[in-house]
Amino acid sequence: MKRRQFIKTTTAGALLPSFGFKASKASKTHVISFSFDDGFKKSFIKLAEIHEEYGLKACLNVIASGHMKSFQAVDDYILPELLGDFDLWNKLALEGHEIMPHSWKHLNLPRQDPYEAKKLISKCIVYFNENLVGFSPSKAVFNFPFNASNSELDQHALTLVRAVRTSVNGAINPLPSKDSRILSCASHGPDISDDWVTQKVNSFLSTEGGWMILNLHGLENEGWGPLSTDYFQSLLKRLVKINTLDILPVGIALEKYTGFH
Ligand SMILES: [Zn+2]
Repeated sequence: MKRRQFIKTTTAGALLPSFGFKASKASKTHVISFSFDDGFKKSFIKLAEIHEEYGLKACLNVIASGHMKSFQAVDDYILPELLGDFDLWNKLALEGHEIMPHSWKHLNLPRQDPYEAKKLISKCIVYFNENLVGFSPSKAVFNFPFNASNSELDQHALTLVRAVRTSVNGAINPLPSKDSRILSCASHGPDISDDWVTQKVNSFLSTEGGWMILNLHGLENEGWGPLSTDYFQSLLKRLVKINTLDILPVGIALEKYTGFH
């Protein structure tokens, strides 16, 4: 984000009078999305519970073929035996949590033949459309594996979905708007991410505002750069008390804020 644009946006926003519920709904200066990847069964069930404790919805991104017999270990972290299936994803979606696509089989897509990479993105979206209750491509976010993409793949995905999550310039984006299409996030690993998250959150909260997307994975010993369960609980407990902050899944943030900025 260019700083000049950002100041212009926030200044204009601050000068707007508040017209009732809708305007005040979007009056937060800071939005944080904790965007969890890969579809770890145990962690994702627990993450849904923790978010519910604080009246929040979890932002959970899963691999389309992660539950299939054909799915093979990606690395030391994404292991087939740890992943959930679409029965679980549908249950969590029905409870209001956000389940979004994290590719067909977790390849580093820019390293594939471009035609094959595009086919895999399309196949993933078709599978979600056919197997996930309430899934709407026009509201969906495609979360690139390893946060690796290029402009050709971004543009292909954007013919199918509302936005893509990749890694362009760190964790901070302008507040969600109709122009939010290529979203940037940051992630940390392979060791435990608690201290990194604290540092990112505190430094973000000391700014004038924006939208921070942190890409996380599992809890305890699951996934690359996991979080401690107790830590994440205490973090949400602290953050929900901040009036100027919204904690939202990426897709819900886009839907809620589009039209206001
Ligand atoms: Zn992943």
